[in-house]
This record gives sequence, C-alpha cells and structure tokens, in this order.
Amino acid sequence: MNNEIVAGCSCGEVEFNSTKNPVIQVCCHCSDCRESTNSDYTTIAFFNSSAVSVSGDLSAEEFTSESGNKTVRELCPKCRTVMFDRSEGFPGLIGVVAQQISAPFKAKVSHHVWVISKLAHVSIPREVKRFEKGIS
Ligand SMILES: [Zn+2]
Ligand SMILES: [Zn+2]
Repeated sequence: MNNEIVAGCSCGEVEFNSTKNPVIQVCCHCSDCRESTNSDYTTIAFFNSSAVSVSGDLSAEEFTSESGNKTVRELCPKCRTVMFDRSEGFPGLIGVVAQQISAPFKAKVSHHVWVISKLAHVSIPREVKRFEKGIS
C-alpha cells in the first residue's frame, strides 16, 4: 500500500499502521504530555481508529487530563516508549506520539493546545492555531 503510515516503539514490540492520513495533528503543552515524553511538548497525530491496526502488548495508564477528560496512555511494557493516547475528548480517534512514526512521515501540526502550560522558552509558529486549553 502506498500511503501506509507506520509507527513503532524503540524495541519493536509494538507496531502501528494506518491506511489513512491523520485527521488532526497537535502539539500538546500540558504537563502530562511533557512528563510522559520527557520533552518540552508532545506532538500527537490523531488517526481514525477504524483505519488503524495495532499489534504487540501494551500497558495502559489511565488518568484524568487537565481538561477533565479520562485519558488512557498506552506504552510498551518492555522499552517504556509512550506510543498512544486515547482520550474521551477525541472519541473514535487514536493519538500516536509523532516521534514514533517512521519516515517519510513528517508531522504537519495545525494546532497547539494547552498553551496555558507552555514552557516559557518554547515559541509557537504564527501560522498555527493556538488554544489556551484543549480544542473546544
Ligand atoms: Zn518496546
Ligand atoms: Zn497533553
């Protein structure tokens, strides 16, 4: 298939593929995302759950995000790579941590969310939409 998008964890246990392009791509500045990926913010590509397949064991951590939505974050139990984010706020979608998606995929972020929690030194490009909190 020509347009297949593939993602995986560092050890190769978890594999993701999608036959469709992501529906929306966001950078999330919330503290949960920053801590889970150990970075200034996390780029997440959301795909339609019906167009994806996931293989491999995952361990799930459930928490309530800053928005109040229940969120399940799924990671590889072996290498602890954070892979997926499923939130009540995005029903029918699965969020994939963009840094785990293989080339030639390039993230094209259209929205920055939870800018209220953004680190001071991080600047946001002018052409993207910014939301103080989640997308409403
Ligand atoms: Zn792994
Ligand atoms: Zn977040």
